[in-house]
Amino acid sequence: MALIVQKYGGTSVGTTDRIKNVARRVAKFKAQGHDLVVVLSAMSGETNRLIALAKDIQANPDPRELDVIVSTGEQVTIGLLAMALKELGIEAKSYTGAQVKILTDSMHTKARIQSIDDAAMRADLNAGRVVIVAGFQGVDAEGNITTLGRGGSDTSGVALAAALKADECQIYTDVDGVYTTDPRVVPEAKKLKTITFEEMLEMASLGSKVLQIRSVEFAGKYNVKLRVLSSFQEEGEGTLITFEEDPNMEKPVVSGIAFNRDEARINVIGVPDKPGIAYQILGPVADANIDVDMIIQNVGQDGTTDFSFTVPKGEFARTIKVLEGVQAHVGGKSVNGDDKICKVSIVGVGMRSHVGVASTMFRTLAEEGINIQMISTSEIKISVIVDEKYLELAVRVLHRAFGLDQVK
Ligand code: ADP
Ligand code: ASP
Ligand code: MG
Repeated sequence: MALIVQKYGGTSVGTTDRIKNVARRVAKFKAQGHDLVVVLSAMSGETNRLIALAKDIQANPDPRELDVIVSTGEQVTIGLLAMALKELGIEAKSYTGAQVKILTDSMHTKARIQSIDDAAMRADLNAGRVVIVAGFQGVDAEGNITTLGRGGSDTSGVALAAALKADECQIYTDVDGVYTTDPRVVPEAKKLKTITFEEMLEMASLGSKVLQIRSVEFAGKYNVKLRVLSSFQEEGEGTLITFEEDPNMEKPVVSGIAFNRDEARINVIGVPDKPGIAYQILGPVADANIDVDMIIQNVGQDGTTDFSFTVPKGEFARTIKVLEGVQAHVGGKSVNGDDKICKVSIVGVGMRSHVGVASTMFRTLAEEGINIQMISTSEIKISVIVDEKYLELAVRVLHRAFGLDQVK
């Protein structure tokens, strides 16, 4: 008998029939004698719908009120699942984040979990009840509803598993595990039996939305056994996130390919090449609460230099506006950019001990006539910025070039 936290994503609870399906799955585990805490997302599309409603009223929604609105999606699904379980004769009780008490900081729309009170959940589990918790939401010290960022139910699931010292955290979604790349883009993508935390962290931060990055950080930090599985298949081991590489597996140097469509490139041309210039340019961007990703500064020539960096697509226009003010102030030539770009990244711990990975990547893209606009590397990843119309092609040819369609 084990204590299992199961998280079901939006597609898995997208209709009442699917919620009944989740109830049957939960009932099966309960019948095997396990204790269960079930974390749910909102029905698929619901969070987007709620955000659109808010934006209809306020173009830049007030963050506190936005959290009040978007957190309702999960409140619906938890109530429905509790009812579906009762219909199957299983005692269950639903909790919002505030009711549990999942205490977070006050950073509305991207709050971080600080602590979780497990008392009420423990009492329910001891009484034989299935505990159902709304994902994605918490409450701050003043009692305000907060949310954890898009995809945040994964983090709720892992955080609850850590707080309850659960034997396993199972993330049920619409694919049966973590693949070498998004199987919806590359049909030849292969399911991985295991992937290391380090690699999964990179994949998540570079755009693979199968797990929210914070959930992977949390699981690594608190030693949570984390597995990704399909809610539509009866059997299957899914993908286990591990600390060590599997010594029995003949793994390719590159383990996976991630991509992110949500980036825009900004160029600041001809600014004076002097101390403090990076701060003068990027400081106001940070002050405007815009997340900057890749940053490149060219070697200065004739006393001036160029900067390029990427920001989320939705912040493109705002960033240009901020920088036009800055440019006038620091005496640069011009500010321009492109929001029709994307980032493609190869990830693998094997890259540490192999040379020639970068050149294989660049050659493969060159052979397809794909121009690389920016490059950034770290120990276990290489990312390139390319025109967004090449995204699928770039991912597919790299997948083949690194032997990922041969993974067993
Ligand atoms: P949920 O609603 O269950 O949280 P998400 O849509 O957030 O589901 O995440 C699952 C999706 O992640 C899959 O449908 C798939 O398209 C996408 N995905 C991206 N990269 C990968 C990958 N490497 N392996 C598996 N799925 C991936
Ligand atoms: N419903 C939230 C979202 O769409 C949280 C989640 O699904 O994990 O982002
Ligand atoms: Mg998700």
